[in-house]
Amino acid sequence: MEKLILIICDGLGDIPVNGKTPLQAARKPHIDALARDGECGLMHVFGMGIIPGSDTAHLQLLGYDPFLFYKGRGVFEALGAGIALGEGDVAFRSNFGTVDGRMNVTDRRAGRISTEEARELGKSLRGMKIDGAEVIFRQTVEHRGVLVLKGKGLSPNISDTDPHDGGPLLKARPLDKTREAKRTADILNKFTMLSNKILSAHPLNSKRKKEGTPPANIVLARGASVFERAPTIKGLYGISAACVAGGALYKGVGKYIGMDVLDVKGATGTKDTNLFSKAKAAEKALKNHDLVFLHIKATDSFGHDGDFKGRVGMIEKIDRIMPILRKTGAHIILTADHSTPVALKKHSFHPVPILAYGKLVRGDNVKKFDEIECAMGGIGHIEGRELMPLILSLLGKAKMFGT
Ligand code: ZN
Ligand code: ZN
Repeated sequence: MEKLILIICDGLGDIPVNGKTPLQAARKPHIDALARDGECGLMHVFGMGIIPGSDTAHLQLLGYDPFLFYKGRGVFEALGAGIALGEGDVAFRSNFGTVDGRMNVTDRRAGRISTEEARELGKSLRGMKIDGAEVIFRQTVEHRGVLVLKGKGLSPNISDTDPHDGGPLLKARPLDKTREAKRTADILNKFTMLSNKILSAHPLNSKRKKEGTPPANIVLARGASVFERAPTIKGLYGISAACVAGGALYKGVGKYIGMDVLDVKGATGTKDTNLFSKAKAAEKALKNHDLVFLHIKATDSFGHDGDFKGRVGMIEKIDRIMPILRKTGAHIILTADHSTPVALKKHSFHPVPILAYGKLVRGDNVKKFDEIECAMGGIGHIEGRELMPLILSLLGKAKMFGT
């Protein structure tokens, strides 16, 4: 029975700085060995000229057309934070912010409050019910969190309370004329004022004020999205899959499509993530899954920071876990969800390098894994929607067309 490890290094694709991309500059003997023994190419995740977001790109790469299955990021963040969602629940991305006495948002990150303090404050917002809907707020990392409204008769068609660029706190408004949208906006507005009342009275905020740090005295919400159940990857493609990731978004995508999302100690979704323990978890998960999806976020973060050296260092760290993965005997696909060039500090249209290795891979003349070499590989230039057919082929699950 064939197995496959799909490694997605977030935002890995780049363009040269002083003649070299980070992949070209990095010392990565193990990854290059996989390129030499495998087959390479370039992948346009959504086609030429389209700049992928991480959420839509992951759906696409995992065989879920985002035009059908993308409902907004809040749903994935909520699932990734461990909240069980039911059909029709509405989820938001949210964060602690600071408002003054006239409800002006003076800091929409509440002074980048620490995870520990934010978690403590989050506890005071538990167990709420407003107008018959259950309201669940869960703090995740630093000032960030997710907000879920659970119940019947809700709608995602409402505006944000988060003013994004500061200024007065916004009132959520229904974006259509339905009762559901009006009701949902009302509930969100009531929750927002209630969060201000509860948090303002919290002793931790009195302490923050005394220390001269901005109190985290409001929960801001944005990007309402509705949960609708999707077919599982097992049902759709006949493969059992596990997800090894640190970031809530990626765990959420895994959960959404019915992967077993593993809790891996040290997998943080940040630059100090423990790649070694993630590789070990992937190795173990292969025993009872066809596919293991291994996500690494930090490559994207270094891209957004414009940190060339940091990105090179991260690639070299990733290189060091390759022997563990190669030894499993599983097929390996190494690629990215989009490019985040350090020179641009944001996602770009540039196609991403892709590498496939394993016993069903034919091979080519590429000897190094980088954006320039991969352009000459045997996989050629593909689109993201072709990745799942490649995965199925390597797993021996592709179907014959005709007889
Ligand atoms: Zn990404
Ligand atoms: Zn990014």
